[in-house]
Amino acid sequence: SNKIKVAILGYGNLGKGVELSILKNPDMSLEAVFSRRDPKSVKTINTPVYSVENILDYKDKIDVLILCGGSKDDLPVQTPEFAQYFNTVDSYDNHAQIPEYFASVDAVAQKSKKIAMISVGWDPGMFSINRLFGEALLPDGETYTFWGKGLSQGHSDAIRRVEGVKAGVQYTLPSTKAIEEVRSGVRPSLSTKDKHTRECFIVLKDGADASKIENEIKTMPNYFEPYDTSVNFISQEEFDKNHNTMPHGGFVIRSGNSSNGINQVIEYSLKLDSNPEFTASVIVAYTRAVYKMALKGEFGAKSVLDVAPALLSMKSNETLRKELL
Ligand code: NDP
Repeated sequence: SNKIKVAILGYGNLGKGVELSILKNPDMSLEAVFSRRDPKSVKTINTPVYSVENILDYKDKIDVLILCGGSKDDLPVQTPEFAQYFNTVDSYDNHAQIPEYFASVDAVAQKSKKIAMISVGWDPGMFSINRLFGEALLPDGETYTFWGKGLSQGHSDAIRRVEGVKAGVQYTLPSTKAIEEVRSGVRPSLSTKDKHTRECFIVLKDGADASKIENEIKTMPNYFEPYDTSVNFISQEEFDKNHNTMPHGGFVIRSGNSSNGINQVIEYSLKLDSNPEFTASVIVAYTRAVYKMALKGEFGAKSVLDVAPALLSMKSNETLRKELL
């Protein structure tokens, strides 16, 4: 067929999200999932799983390889390795290390003449693009990024370590007050603490002391003490029913002045039921862009800031001019 042939390397939350997202993109076909684990132990929805040991057999059968490994330990090794043989897309999200990561991947992709698209997702990713738009369009201004409502893995772990807690999750919420202030165009200076509040949902062990636990959480240094924190006690049934997804999202707001006293405010917002599924959806659109750029003979490392929007679309440029301009 003339579909874009893709494969996934690494099948965790993000890998599964990519498999689901490809089902919504009829111009693509998912040929294979590769894993470092025993393929028999990896349960996909309906894609064949192979050992990563055999991945080079697919060198000429796959247009783009989507790397779904973790940013901390997997991608710094896997992307430079596989950019030797494949056009790649990844979601590397260690912001401080991106320039070095880009350089190490670019060195490989320049030689292999492949495209290696790095740090695709929403932050980094769609939020980065919107920060760029804001700065470029309103040079005299401030950019504000708020995260949430989002499940924080680190803070959830911290509350689960408190004695008497049977199960717990923590959501980070953007502060409504801070957002309203930013939207008004006054360009406030806000600390991280001013920008976010924390909300905990906890199931107690039998006989545990709720008020003691609430106090222990609210006064936990660094994690909760600096924030406005609320603690809610719920039943195991409610916990299982309402707290089993990975919601996330946030806002990028640029507040600027085009002349004295003239406020211009730009806002981009995401409300995501599933962080990995949305990240995967962004990755799949950029996979299409990688395919189109590779057809034109481009190569090297790229970030989302390097890609023209039309390349993301399933439609031709002619159709896009008619429908979207
Ligand atoms: P996971 O921990 O679910 O998966 C990472 C890897 O772990 C998999 O690719 C898989 O590789 C391996 N793995 C080992 N054992 C298991 C197991 N039992 N079950 C599932 N996987 C296993 O991470 P996520 O998929 O949630 O996230 C991947 C990365 O995506 C994150 O590190 C983060 O950096 C990035 N991300 C980026 C975002 C952005 O906006 N830019 C947003 C969200 C995430 P293998 O199959 O080879 O064993």
